[in-house]
Amino acid sequence: MIIKAYQEPPSLDVFRYLIQRSELPPESTQLFFRMEKGHEGEQKMAGLLEGLPDNWVILHDLLLECNNSAFQIDALLISNELIYLLEVKNFEGDFYIESDQWFTGAGREIQNPVLQLNRSESLLRQLLRKLGLNLPVKGLIIFTHPEFALFQAPLNSPIVLPSQLNRFITQLRKNPAKPTQHLKRFAEKLAELHIEESPYERLPHYEYQQLEKGIVCAVCSSLLISFVHDRRILCTQCGDDEALDASIMRSIKQFQLLFPNKKLTTNVIYDWCKIIDSKKTIRRVLRGNFSAAGFGKHTYYL
Ligand SMILES: [Zn+2]
Repeated sequence: MIIKAYQEPPSLDVFRYLIQRSELPPESTQLFFRMEKGHEGEQKMAGLLEGLPDNWVILHDLLLECNNSAFQIDALLISNELIYLLEVKNFEGDFYIESDQWFTGAGREIQNPVLQLNRSESLLRQLLRKLGLNLPVKGLIIFTHPEFALFQAPLNSPIVLPSQLNRFITQLRKNPAKPTQHLKRFAEKLAELHIEESPYERLPHYEYQQLEKGIVCAVCSSLLISFVHDRRILCTQCGDDEALDASIMRSIKQFQLLFPNKKLTTNVIYDWCKIIDSKKTIRRVLRGNFSAAGFGKHTYYL
């Protein structure tokens, strides 16, 4: 039973749109790739957990707080007897452990994910105690990428390797008793405690002027090479064509996500789409999909 479903982080879309229209600093590009990769892993894990019997109460992606410390949980699996705290890692390639330190195959040290897990586990336990739920918490790091290999991991590590993942899921299927009403209410309470993070928090600074204008192809994401013909936008790169209105609407949605505080006006969207030569067309799409406010020159859309 899924109480809080997995959702793609909204900041990923903002990142994607930024990358289509600008050159990001290398550290932001790296952060973007890490987030994409993490998202891939969590999506995969969510797919696997979806198939579990209803006796597990499942919450994805929680940002919680206890004693002024925030902690992030990728997935919680709750039964009447036990809580699994899952930390999903989508690392790819070879890694090894040497005296409690983690390294990539090339010998670069990375943050020890077990320490991160221990911290979340401890904070979760404290929070559960505060809320009056006394269930044992078992933390596990789930590695989802099929090309992941880990060497020299101690036998009792709280780790599920890609080759063990199916067995882990099978084991979960030998399911516990049906969750009590109390437990369900408790899970809902946890979901309520989740702190919603602004999608703009981890993004690099950007401004309208820095971004390339134009319509991005819905299929190949290339910009500026589309042109208008017979109320359709054609992409010379991949050959895709899309109805003009649909592509304008897509561009408006992107604009809104990138600039949530800017007003939607015909002139703004005309400039943003760049390759549409008629303001009338833009106005028609705006009128058809939003409500107009203001008057005359000062009309904007909500
Ligand atoms: Zn294309």
